[in-house]
Amino acid sequence: MLVGVLALQGDVDEHIAALHRAGAEAIAVKTPADLERVDGLVIPGGESTTVMKLLDRFHLAAPIKARVKDGMPLWGTCMGMIVAAHDVADLDQPTLDLIDITVRRNAFGRQNESAEIGLPVAALGEEPFPAIFIRAPWIERTGPSVELLAERDGHGVMVRQRDVLGTSFHPELTSDARVHAYFLKMVAEAKKNVGKTSTAA
Ligand code: GLN
Repeated sequence: MLVGVLALQGDVDEHIAALHRAGAEAIAVKTPADLERVDGLVIPGGESTTVMKLLDRFHLAAPIKARVKDGMPLWGTCMGMIVAAHDVADLDQPTLDLIDITVRRNAFGRQNESAEIGLPVAALGEEPFPAIFIRAPWIERTGPSVELLAERDGHGVMVRQRDVLGTSFHPELTSDARVHAYFLKMVAEAKKNVGKTSTAA
C-alpha cells in the first residue's frame, strides 16, 4: 500500500513523516505519473487559492478527480479539504468538487486563528484528539450522504463521504497517529474492493 501526498505547496514533509509513523509507505506526488502509483492521496495544508491554480498548471486536477471517482481514497487537511469541497462560501474559484460540502475559509476569527483543542471524535475512540487549527476553515453545509465526524463550536470540522475524508485541523502536526491510521484503513478497504464494484453492477 503506497500513499501519496500532493506536493505542489504546503506541509508535505510533515504528512509523509506522519504516514511513516502510522506504518505506511508514502511518496510526494507532483506529476500524473506519481499519482498513478498511489493507492490513496493526501492533500495537505497550505494556501488553497495557490494550490487550486497549480493543480491545473501541473495537469493534476482532472487525473485526481478521475482516480477518486474510480474509488481512490482522498484525505484533505485544512487547505486540502477546501480544495476537495463542492464549493467555498467566500471564494469564487473552481474546486475539485469531490465531497458534497460547503466550506468557509479562515472561519474561526482572528483571535482563534491558531489553536490546539481536545476534540471529541467518536470514530477515533474515547480519548479526545489533539486538534491543531491554523487559519482553519469550517464546514457550513454537508450534503445528505456526508457523515459529520466532529464539530468545534457547533461547526463541522471533520467529515467523510464514502472514500473522501476532510479535516479542518492538522493531525500531521501531532504525534497522535489516529487520523492517519483511520485514513490508512480507508485505503486498505478500497484496495480490497478494487474490481469488485464493476462485477456487482
Ligand atoms: N487559510 C488557508 C486557506 O484558505 C488554509 C490554512 C491551512 O491549510 N492551514 O487556504
